[in-house]
Amino acid sequence: MYRAWFSCFDGCCSEKWALTDVITRCPNGSLLDVSHDVSALGSRSAAAWMQLFDQRWMRSAWPFGSGVWGKLEWVYPTISHDSVVSFAEGGTNLLWAERYGASLGLRDLWVKQCGNSHTASFKDLGMTVLVSAVREMIRSGRGVRAVACASTGDTSAALSAYCAAAGLPCIVFLPRAKVSPEQLVQPMANGAVVMSLDTDFDGCMAVVQEVAKDGGIYLANSMNPLRIEGQKTIAVELVQQFDWEVPDVVIVPGGNLGNIYAFARGFELMESLGLIRKRPRLVCAQAHNANPLYRAYVNGWDRYEPIRAAPTAASAIQIGNPVSIHRAIKALRAFDGIVEEATEAELLNAAARADRTGMFCCPHTGVALAALEKLIAKGTITRDQRVVVVSTAHGLKFAQTKTAFHAGGLDGVDPTLRNMPVELPASVDAVKRAIDRLLPG
Ligand SMILES: *Cc1c(COP(=O)(O)O)cnc(C)c1O
Ligand SMILES: [Zn+2]
Repeated sequence: MYRAWFSCFDGCCSEKWALTDVITRCPNGSLLDVSHDVSALGSRSAAAWMQLFDQRWMRSAWPFGSGVWGKLEWVYPTISHDSVVSFAEGGTNLLWAERYGASLGLRDLWVKQCGNSHTASFKDLGMTVLVSAVREMIRSGRGVRAVACASTGDTSAALSAYCAAAGLPCIVFLPRAKVSPEQLVQPMANGAVVMSLDTDFDGCMAVVQEVAKDGGIYLANSMNPLRIEGQKTIAVELVQQFDWEVPDVVIVPGGNLGNIYAFARGFELMESLGLIRKRPRLVCAQAHNANPLYRAYVNGWDRYEPIRAAPTAASAIQIGNPVSIHRAIKALRAFDGIVEEATEAELLNAAARADRTGMFCCPHTGVALAALEKLIAKGTITRDQRVVVVSTAHGLKFAQTKTAFHAGGLDGVDPTLRNMPVELPASVDAVKRAIDRLLPG
């Protein structure tokens, strides 16, 4: 009785396409949304939805134990359970950043650890939906020769894992020498065709869109709204983890900008079904070196221009021509949104400060934390507010960058945060002298 379909994002046409149709743009070239029959969903009360989601939460009944598929009716209501490819994604910890928050004067700061997942980034949430949907397409008789994506590292890791689990051929396009070794080895291990191109992410994106114009190669980038459907469940899960209370501010690092839109979609659906009554303020955090959205924001949304993104330690968001720019602007306008940026020094030092309180932050989470610190300094975020920072990848995926930070090999690093191993002979005396020298007091 619940239904969903593809619709045009710009509203330039009013057609509806089946979720099993192989289509990623409308006939006029606009991006697509997945639209839900909200009045059908509304025939179940808000309280009943919350109870259902809580019952399924992190249990084993297939496929509902997944944080995404536990909300199946809100994601892809008609999908056959046999088509679902899932690694039990979602259900990630929402940690109270007590000591780091206190250092900033915040009592109610939380970090949603979305990188604690199967391929170590939050891309798993959208990819489980996309690859499951491909299986559903194949079931319905469409031919799909391979699934392909351009990636700054995390999308390709997720796509190759889900394709391998489904037994589907996978092609990933990566900018040569611009992804971490930990990210690169994932599609290699999962048996994807790995294309390493002499360009940046935006160049890979242009190539894959051309390649996917030939029938049979299905495009898995986040311009595909099936990905957004999975990512939007983070917003639902977040509110669920606060016993269905809405935080005041949610900060998300942004690159291709599908995710900031996905958060808006998640909160909007909860609002229209009566699960929540207020909207959080959304903050999109960008690296200064890859900040086209920030520039448009400072211009009062008047003017948007793609840029050539410069290298950043936050390599997963080194994107100058984000596919979802207009989706992001729409989301931020509707959620009293803010865009903040962080320099390399700011993002690395913010991650290091959080690490000193027990976290282990990837550079993108560092961008979000730096944005938080700046918004507190400006008085935009205040001490009484409940703030959630979305941590998007596992810090271990960026071991090289983090090690270089501590080795002092990066510019603008706060020396008080560096910490290197002490190399000593195996002598008790030498060790005791070193302890006296290194411990405070
Ligand atoms: C993809 C990604 C982002 C940004 O998400 P977009 O939807 O592209 O804006 C942020 N952090 C990490 C680690 C990512 O992999
Ligand atoms: Zn259209």
